[in-house]
Amino acid sequence: METTSFSTDGPQPIRGDRGATILGPRNVPIERENPDLLASPITDAGTVPNLKFSFAAARNRLLRGGWAREVTVRELPVATRIAGVDMRLKPGAIREMHWHKEAEWGYVLAGSVRITAVNPDGRNFIDDVAAGDIWNFPAGIPHSIQGLKNGAEFLLVFDDGAFSENETFLITDWFAHTPVEVLAKNFGVPETAFANLPTDLDNTRYIFEASVPGPIESDAVQSDAGVSMPYSYRFSAQEPLRLAGGQVRIVDSSNFPAASTIAAALVEVEPGAMRELHWHPNSDEWQYYLSGQARMTVFASGGKARTFDYLAGDVGYVPFAMGHYVENTGTDTLRFLENVPQQPFCRCLAEPVDGAHAAGAGSGAPQPG
Ligand code: MN
Ligand code: MN
Repeated sequence: METTSFSTDGPQPIRGDRGATILGPRNVPIERENPDLLASPITDAGTVPNLKFSFAAARNRLLRGGWAREVTVRELPVATRIAGVDMRLKPGAIREMHWHKEAEWGYVLAGSVRITAVNPDGRNFIDDVAAGDIWNFPAGIPHSIQGLKNGAEFLLVFDDGAFSENETFLITDWFAHTPVEVLAKNFGVPETAFANLPTDLDNTRYIFEASVPGPIESDAVQSDAGVSMPYSYRFSAQEPLRLAGGQVRIVDSSNFPAASTIAAALVEVEPGAMRELHWHPNSDEWQYYLSGQARMTVFASGGKARTFDYLAGDVGYVPFAMGHYVENTGTDTLRFLENVPQQPFCRCLAEPVDGAHAAGAGSGAPQPG
């Protein structure tokens, strides 16, 4: 019988005298992105859950005003504690006023946005937030997001892996499912006032087009303005903790009280350096890779370990207590966010960004982080 001949291009699953070439069908771009899966280190062993999912492999919900894609427990089943959304808003486009049962921690990846919220005392909050800065809306707090002059893209982190961006509480959705005579009675206006409520919410609301707003003063609501606990934080202005192999910024409820359920570190690791072997004594860790390339081995006890490779836009996950390191395997600075659904962010986590250890000069014992 004649055999099909398949491509021999691309990396091969060979490490020393182990392994053999691929003869069958293959997906070379994915194999190139995952050299430590294709040819796993000999120290990897046993069955470990998948700890990587790329936003590039997530379904993207496209709307006239932008888009949103999510990595939740449905995409990455091990990620039960945190879910993430990558959202884009064109200039002026609005993520409609809404709320949800989960807290929302936002990090602006590019551009700038205007955020608004109303706190439990009925006081309103408004701020313009730019790349590198963050916000946090506690669970249940209504909020909106609008793209400013050049639009924006941002990462949203939620403190429950089961969150879905498609299941938020929208004002328009609520109105569409309330008898119109009740709306009229509630607001003291004729029923005709609600004749033009949007009906195709999936396509015309949630994220919709609008004009770029004027200066923040022109948008601010005058009555009951200002909240005692701001929902935004200038993370990019924070002085980093500088270390031998990189630097780190940490934000948790000690310096940003509104972020009462989600803490984070922005870790930067120079080429050749690594985030030292460590574990987290109090929670899972959800990672988002911003730039550069990395590999991480997660030790799951009982002789089990697996190594994953990460690029910008990938999500990584480390279950509670499992040992791990993050190594810069590229030639540029590696930058990634570590989010933990726990307070405070353990300060000792900041220390192990160490160039000496990558060079083999370190002699310190692994420490809990
Ligand atoms: Mn939200
Ligand atoms: Mn860690």
